[in-house]
This record gives sequence, C-alpha cells and structure tokens, in this order.
Amino acid sequence: MTLSLAYIFKQQQLLVDEHYQLPQVESVASDLYIGTGDQVIARDLLDEEPIPEGLQLIPIRQLLQLWNIKQFEQASRAIQLLEWRRNHKFCSHCGQKTEVHTREYAMVCPACGYHQYPRVNPCVITVITRGQDEVLLAKSARNKNSEMYGLIAGFIEVGETLEDAVRRETLEEVGLKLKNIQYLASQPWPFPSNLMIAFKAEYASGDIELQVDEISEAAFFKFDQLPEIPFKGSIAHAMIMHVIQGTVVADDTQAWL
Ligand SMILES: [Zn+2]
Repeated sequence: MTLSLAYIFKQQQLLVDEHYQLPQVESVASDLYIGTGDQVIARDLLDEEPIPEGLQLIPIRQLLQLWNIKQFEQASRAIQLLEWRRNHKFCSHCGQKTEVHTREYAMVCPACGYHQYPRVNPCVITVITRGQDEVLLAKSARNKNSEMYGLIAGFIEVGETLEDAVRRETLEEVGLKLKNIQYLASQPWPFPSNLMIAFKAEYASGDIELQVDEISEAAFFKFDQLPEIPFKGSIAHAMIMHVIQGTVVADDTQAWL
C-alpha cells in the first residue's frame, strides 16, 4: 500500500497533525494529484466525515504564519485546484457533464471537446510613497470592525496593462495620480484564487478623495508613526517594510516569512 501526503480541506481549513504537518493517507480514484514526483494528493473532507483521530482543522491563513513559503504555496495550489474542479462539473459551452483530463489540469467536455482550465485572477497591489518618509495607507470600508490600514489593490480589467490597473485603482479609490510605477514581486493568494502583483509608486499629484463604498479612511503616514498594518506573511506587510526598511520583496526569497 502506497501512502500519499494529503491536503484535506474543509472549506478554508486544512487537516494537519499536532506539529502542523500533513497526514499520509491511502489515495482513492477521486483524489486530485498535485504536481509530479512525490505522491501528493488533495481532497475535500465531506460534511458527514469525522475528523480523523490525532488530526485537527486549521485555517490556512494561520498556516501562512507557521509554514515556509513553499509549503504554503503548495497548499494554496491544492485548495485552488480543488475549488476549480468543484466549480467546473459541467461544460460552460454546452452544459454536458465534464470529465477530468488524465494528464493536464483540465475539465473536458465529452460532447463538444471544450477544455476548461483553472483560472487565476490577477490583482495589482501598490505601495505609494510621498517624499522620503511617508506611505499611503487605507482602511477598507468592508472591514468595519478592523483598525487595520492596508494598501490600494484591485482586479485587473480586460484590456488593461498592469500599470493601467495601478493608475486606475489609485485614482478611483483615493483620487491620487502616480509616477515612477515599478514592479516589485508577486504572491499567489488563495482567497479564493488571486495572483497578487505588487508595485511601488510615488505620489505625483491630487488631494485624497475617497471612494466611500471601498475605502473608509486613507492618509499618508510618517514611517515612524504607522497605524496597525497587515500581518507578517502577507505581501502587503513585506511591501510596507520594503519602502520603510529597504528589505527585499521578491518571489524567489522568503523575505516575507
Ligand atoms: Zn461541451
């Protein structure tokens, strides 16, 4: 009997042992295989299934702070592929039941041959500085009970470049114009299936004017007088630290862990 390392999810929670490591299980036909080489599978824990003895369900956001970046990225890939498979049981072209492709991550329609692939939603996130010692931070209108200030972020629209999206989101959300937009790094973000693409930019002109349904407060903060910022492990945290302390934000290092 071969055992596989298993990512077993219940919504946004993952089954791990007391040391926050993955369990080994016997694989079944409905499992989704992650990557190649080592046997690594992903599956959902069904509602009626009990939590196996010795294991516990931990929110994956929490694992972001306990695991290294590679472990987190693989978990993030597993949960996104499972969600994609769950959401593409039928062909979006003709409505027939789809089948799992034997080699690729694709859901294939046996009637019309249409292939549905996992979709990544690209998002830009921007850290904006003014002068040598100020950074723009904004509070989301959606998190009414939170005192946390984050960065300006939003989805890329069809036909836009990444830089267009950075400029548009900033103008829409806080009414400011930017200059010197530069790419920093990227991070897959499985809530639900985003790719965060990080930029830094400098304030060019304008007065802060809020888009009130998105942003409840925004201001330039002195580097030594920051409010509560996003948790360590998020790309936003690494970006803010980058402009303040000059630390690296790159997808090939573990700078944000
Ligand atoms: Zn079809």
